Amino acid sequence: MTQLRAYFDYAASTPIDPEIKQYYIDLIEQTWANPNSIHSFGRQSRAILENSRQLISTTLLCKPSEIYFTNSATEANNVVIQSFLKQGRVIISGFEHDSVLEISKGNPNIDITSPSSDGLVKVDAILELVQDDTVLISVMWVNNELGTIQDIQLLSQKLKELNQERAAKGLPRILLHTDGVQAPNCIKIDLQELGADLLTLSAHKIYAPRGATLLFVREGINLEPLIYGGVQESGIWPGTQNALAIGAFAKALEKSQKLENIELIQRFQTKIIEFAGQNGIKVNGSLDSRIPGNVHLSFKNIDQEELLTFLDLHGLAVSAGSSCASGSNKESQAVKYLDLSPEYTAHLRITFGRFTTEDEIVLLLKKLGLVFKKNS
Ligand code: PLP
Repeated sequence: MTQLRAYFDYAASTPIDPEIKQYYIDLIEQTWANPNSIHSFGRQSRAILENSRQLISTTLLCKPSEIYFTNSATEANNVVIQSFLKQGRVIISGFEHDSVLEISKGNPNIDITSPSSDGLVKVDAILELVQDDTVLISVMWVNNELGTIQDIQLLSQKLKELNQERAAKGLPRILLHTDGVQAPNCIKIDLQELGADLLTLSAHKIYAPRGATLLFVREGINLEPLIYGGVQESGIWPGTQNALAIGAFAKALEKSQKLENIELIQRFQTKIIEFAGQNGIKVNGSLDSRIPGNVHLSFKNIDQEELLTFLDLHGLAVSAGSSCASGSNKESQAVKYLDLSPEYTAHLRITFGRFTTEDEIVLLLKKLGLVFKKNS
């Protein structure tokens, strides 16, 4: 008898939506040529690329010329942070993705704000770190471990006021970048309302194949390239664009913004949270400001590796923390801010979404119940 398996690691990579998969397959024949070649084959590929840029701009309410493509969110985040570090100081939160945090290690021009124990970054705490030569604030929209939503709109409003005061003193304007990789499946994105100057989004978190990421850069902002080569993407990310992956990404982004299945996903979240409450398992992060497809749990007196192995053996794909840290013993970025007592020795990030079924939730709770029994 084959074992039932269930995937609860949507924050690492979502499964590919069958509709997007078919679109991707259909696009292969039209996108294999280099989109920068001027002959008819290249122009066909270029048309897909530019139509995708157009579709994305319509979806996010910005101009096509404000969208730049890279291959991964790690690349896009690096371009932003490293470019601004050449101009002045940068403020980040302590639980950013590694693609932001690793740059900050030992860098005297980075100021780090600690998230509160509810997994939220407080706007006032960020603004307290501003110095005369601060040029960028980068705070992730949805934390990839805890699923908590940061109030980027409020931050951008406060920053606008602050920037007016700074302009009067002749100080540089502070721009706002947000890593929104975990946001599109459950938050409506309106770039005019959001007010961020720069935004990173990635295909493999929104039911499309890996290999495409976008960086929104508001008109008038200049970024320094991180790598050098051709003039693709205005030199911000040189190298031949992956028109195939970008085509699927644009379609997936449009679909993500329909926010389908949100209520069902929310219902699953409530079930898991209730189960945790009944079994003495701690639920981490604000319950008021979080995406529906994430539950982050802490367990008492159980070994982290043992817990993950146990669940894996029982067919459950879950994660201990951020996906880039799995496979290593690296400490979670987010857990250290939670103020947990030392008896909480193991943590689980359970993430789910569009294709999660009721049966999978039943299986998850059954297996988590076994963990509870084992340790009580
Ligand atoms: N930012 C966030 C919030 C993420 O969750 C991830 C991936 O886990 C990344 C950035 C990095 O994305 P990529 O794998 O496309 O480099």
